[in-house]
Amino acid sequence: MRRVIALLSCALMLITSHVSAKDVEYRLPSSITPTFQQIHLNIDPDTPAYSGTTVIDITVKEDTKKVGFYQQDLTVTGASLTSGDNTIALSVSEGDYNMNWGSAEDTIAKGKYKLHITFEGEINKSSDGMYLSSFEGRNYIFTQFEDMHARKAFPSFDEPAFKIPYQMTITSPEKQVVVSNTPVESRSVEDGMQTVKFEKTKPMPTYLIAYTVGPFDSAELTGLSVPGKVYVPKGYADKTKFIVKHTPEILTALENFFDIKYPYKKLDFVAVPNFTHGAMENVGLITYRDSLLLLEDNPPLTERSGPLNVIAHELAHQWFGNLVTMQWWDDLWLNEAFASWAASYTMKELYPELNFAERIVQEGAFGADASPTVKPVKKVVRIQPDVMDGLGLNYSKGESILQMIESLIGTEKFREGVRNYMNTHAWRNTVADDLWAALDGVSDFNLSAMMKAYLEQPGYPLISIDSDGKVTQSRFHYAGADVKAQTWAVPLKLTYKVNGKIKQEVVFIDKKTTRLPQLAEAEWVFPNDDATGYFRWAIPASQLNALLNDLDALNNREKKNVLYNTQALLNAGEVGIDSVMPVLNTLAQDDEAVVKRAAVGVLGQFTYLVDDSNRSDYALLLTQEYMPVLNQLTLSPSEGETESEIKLRNSLYGLLGTYANNDALIKKSEKLAKQYISDPTSVPSAIAGIAIAVSTKHGNPEMFDNIIAAYKQAELPNVKQTLLYSMRYSDTETVNKMLDIALTDLVTPANTLYMVVSVARNLDDQTALYAWMDKNLDALISKMPEYHVSRMPEFVSRTCDTANFKRAEDFYAPIKDKYEGMARSYTIMVDSTQQCLRLKDTFQDDFNRYLSEYAN
Ligand SMILES: [Zn+2]
Repeated sequence: MRRVIALLSCALMLITSHVSAKDVEYRLPSSITPTFQQIHLNIDPDTPAYSGTTVIDITVKEDTKKVGFYQQDLTVTGASLTSGDNTIALSVSEGDYNMNWGSAEDTIAKGKYKLHITFEGEINKSSDGMYLSSFEGRNYIFTQFEDMHARKAFPSFDEPAFKIPYQMTITSPEKQVVVSNTPVESRSVEDGMQTVKFEKTKPMPTYLIAYTVGPFDSAELTGLSVPGKVYVPKGYADKTKFIVKHTPEILTALENFFDIKYPYKKLDFVAVPNFTHGAMENVGLITYRDSLLLLEDNPPLTERSGPLNVIAHELAHQWFGNLVTMQWWDDLWLNEAFASWAASYTMKELYPELNFAERIVQEGAFGADASPTVKPVKKVVRIQPDVMDGLGLNYSKGESILQMIESLIGTEKFREGVRNYMNTHAWRNTVADDLWAALDGVSDFNLSAMMKAYLEQPGYPLISIDSDGKVTQSRFHYAGADVKAQTWAVPLKLTYKVNGKIKQEVVFIDKKTTRLPQLAEAEWVFPNDDATGYFRWAIPASQLNALLNDLDALNNREKKNVLYNTQALLNAGEVGIDSVMPVLNTLAQDDEAVVKRAAVGVLGQFTYLVDDSNRSDYALLLTQEYMPVLNQLTLSPSEGETESEIKLRNSLYGLLGTYANNDALIKKSEKLAKQYISDPTSVPSAIAGIAIAVSTKHGNPEMFDNIIAAYKQAELPNVKQTLLYSMRYSDTETVNKMLDIALTDLVTPANTLYMVVSVARNLDDQTALYAWMDKNLDALISKMPEYHVSRMPEFVSRTCDTANFKRAEDFYAPIKDKYEGMARSYTIMVDSTQQCLRLKDTFQDDFNRYLSEYAN
């Protein structure tokens, strides 16, 4: 799955192979295993109620009195076991963890049976399980079964280790398009109803089953190694040209990487107008948020990365995750980490102009992973909220660690290890150790030990190197936070300068203190060659100054690392603002746009210290140091610009437009915003989003109605998002109007939270936000997907303001224990807020002092 988000000739062998399922209370007993499941559903997108039957072939390995399966929110209307002519009636009762138990009067002797279950349910309006999405007056049914939601659609052995073939049959009104994981085997029509039987699947877990029913249009996906189509809501087939053009080359690149052809018989995509996540890697039927598939024919460079990267991620899962599946949800992080790594690899191979080579993925993980209450990547998972806890971090931390291994052993060896792993475990389940074993097998390093330290402990190390070559490691944390002492096995890829000569070597550090005599005479040490290490580092101030004078020795990634690392040391309380600003100012002058942009990004991170008392001084700093750079770039894209230049412009424009208080820039923004509102093709969406943000932040309440009118008219999801989520109004009347829209049909359930978040992040004083949420809580909770309900504290309420924090505490106190997972999210919100408040306390005076230089 991409959040923003996912099989053996003899199924029996699969279950008994490798790691036997552990008997724990939250999983079905290992003494009964399924080998094949047939599902028949009677569904109509225009009728919420549906019914179904399922037949599951099972093997009972020990005599028993009851058979367990999962179901949630369904009504089981009948259950029985058959074996030849023999039928055993089962009475079904509900147990914990969504398990149901079918009990027999007499003992069920060990042997093979068919478990028959009939059931009824309601198609929900949330966005998991089997759900309804109404779009432009038409109803569509979609599914999202990862991670534990298949049980909401039909009874099943809903655990990833039960990797068996399925066969889906769907009866629905004749006019509907019906699609599932496999090609259609047969279709019959009677009295206006069609019954579509799909081919039996390869062995797969329940969470990868998918089907969709609705009045779809479609476009052919040609040039793949199997047949494929893109299904879209009615009327949108002509918006798929961009992805139809690029999908084949991505699939081919991955087939070459794994050296295994795409393992299934067809490959369809479907654009979903109401989707909590980014996309889901269902076998042969990948679902995507509509904004990722429905695009301009030739989007601007900066709008290509998102869709192409997500497609590469979901396609990579067809091997890693689908062909080889984790045994249990505690290794979901590896599934996601690998798909993210493979997507980055593919993007670098195919689209160098999109600049993935210069992205530093660790930076997406370091913030959350510095929290004192962060959990290790590898943790016990029992129920749904356990899976989601920290999942976003697990993608980025996991990818960072895979990248660290790749850089250590080389891309060739890494690929060889992955190929060996795939060939050994194809169609089966694995645990993370299987991958480390495969990678150990092709390298000279003890990767397993390194992995253990990084994955079974939270956080990451700070490597401090002193002028005598003494190397010390400690757990990195922000100033004032309390963490326990830890050590890691850390590969240091050193670059250092001695006697005017630059040298390189790799050393492993696994103790708290190590001495490297070769560094004692160094003019400077840079311990993170190519910026692939998952750690922070500190060198003496004199060495950092020498390094800044020698920046030509570093590549762009490394220069960015110096900057981000110095900023992190500031947050850790290791250095003062006086140490960061010279690095920032030096790199803001760099010739490369990608490095300059990193400097702008870091400068933007100081805005939590900007308030009414220093706002004008901050505006002066921006005007003096950065307005000339923006003026040089102008707000109009020119022919031949690189992706980095475009992004630099966008970053500068966002920062200066918001904080520089520059009349000309605000006027220009109003003009661009109006231009976009009347014709969305006239301004690139990224620029338009900033123009709307700047204009609405500085007044223009009359623009609101025009924005909403344009939103209703807009066709492309990207344009709709730009219009709706860029507004930065802060007056109570317009804020309430924006929030009210979140509850209307104009905003899908999956997007409801984004509207609230876009209001929250813009309000200095959030009184109006919490008043509205108090008043509309029931409506808000019943509209949003459960996942968003549980994560509200983190998404909506992180703040760096004491009064807003108090409002959040008051708001969540009576509700946080009522919704599954919300209490954990609340803790994460409290941690990050307190961390920010501590930093503010520590650095406010220094920051003001620094800014005051611009006031004089
Ligand atoms: Zn994924």
